[in-house]
Amino acid sequence: MRFRSVKGTHDILPQESARWQHVEGVIRSWAERFGFREIRTPILEPFELIARGVGQTTDIVTKEMFTLQRGQDLLVLRPEMTAPVMRAYLQHGLYTQGAVQKWYYIGAMFRAERPQRGRQRQFHQYGAEVIGSPDPTADAEVIALQMGILEEFGLQGLRLRLNSIGDEAARARYREALLAYFRPLADRLSPASRERLERNPLRILDSKEPQDQELAARAPRITEYLSEGCRQHFEQLKRYLEDLGIAYEEDPLLVRGLDYYSRTAFEVTSPLLGAQDALGGGGRYDGLAKALGGPPTPGVGFAGGLERLLLALEASGYLFPAPARAELYIAATGAEARRWALVRAQRWRRQEGLRVEYDLLGRSIKAQLREADRMGARFVLFVGDQELRQGLAPLKELASGEQTWVPLDEVPEYLRRAHVSSLRT
Ligand code: AMP
Repeated sequence: MRFRSVKGTHDILPQESARWQHVEGVIRSWAERFGFREIRTPILEPFELIARGVGQTTDIVTKEMFTLQRGQDLLVLRPEMTAPVMRAYLQHGLYTQGAVQKWYYIGAMFRAERPQRGRQRQFHQYGAEVIGSPDPTADAEVIALQMGILEEFGLQGLRLRLNSIGDEAARARYREALLAYFRPLADRLSPASRERLERNPLRILDSKEPQDQELAARAPRITEYLSEGCRQHFEQLKRYLEDLGIAYEEDPLLVRGLDYYSRTAFEVTSPLLGAQDALGGGGRYDGLAKALGGPPTPGVGFAGGLERLLLALEASGYLFPAPARAELYIAATGAEARRWALVRAQRWRRQEGLRVEYDLLGRSIKAQLREADRMGARFVLFVGDQELRQGLAPLKELASGEQTWVPLDEVPEYLRRAHVSSLRT
């Protein structure tokens, strides 16, 4: 074959999409229970929005953007949703419509990372944002949503790590302290962290390189630089999580890569995932609206990776619901019966809401029966000229092999009764 999907992108084939739909259904149901409503924004965004919203010094902006030049416009395929969501909020003046907006999303994101298990160039995130509340209940709400979704799937061994990275002023002081600590150690840092040192020293703290981790373990802690307000916010959030029975671990080295975060930062990991073990994460971004030129507006949210959630569910042996199958396959022979099958299938789909299929190739009855079996159809109705004349045809239940002659007009009723009795047994 000449063409293959682009590196780091994957097809979700029909045999897999039932799992996606199931997982998305659980996410939607949970989001709606909390009163989050869905927002869908374009995949294309202005480069400048992401550069400002995500931060000029982040890996996402410096190395991983899919950019497109179109005339004068520099566009990107969105790498995440918080900046686009805030853009939409500001653009449509939604601060005039109620004090707090609660939105969720599910969609494709794009980052030109080195592909590996759990890391793709096109991947899918689900997430939620609470815009307009600085209160720690809003932080608790998004964490409760994320943990509620993951627990509904019965995932064991989840770790929720939590930190406060303070406000802008605290972070500026902390940044100086980190610079003072790391500068004399620069030649012991990994090359990537040495490069980050002057631009974004906080990022060294969440480096995965053992040499960086060793130095980071003794670095000054953000906790010592928090203002009284930030400290109280963090304490209050922890109390709420305890009230909710949500277990967490404090991790002063958890900083997250995005510049606009303030105060709360959190991440959820699963032991089932291997090297890329983050199922999702989030935090507060009180500085974002202003950075995008809007009125200062607090916000807090999270994003989770759908591919990783599916990997974790598969590794955990999660029982996905069986994909829907045809309730009836009409196996027809002869031109007259084939026309009848076409029209009847449509009528029963429309009037009875049944899942009905029939042969699209003009195959033999034997081949049609094999096809019905392969697709997992529940019943097969055999019709030829004679059955049409009699108004009566054999209806076979594939699992039991039982066959009954049923008047053609009573087939839907028969299927309904069979369905009800199968629910009883
Ligand atoms: P982030 O926006 O970087 O905080 O990512 C949130 C979540 O999205 C992560 O915890 C992952 O579950 C998922 N994720 C991020 N980047 C990728 C990627 N390149 N491939 C697959 N999933 C990803």
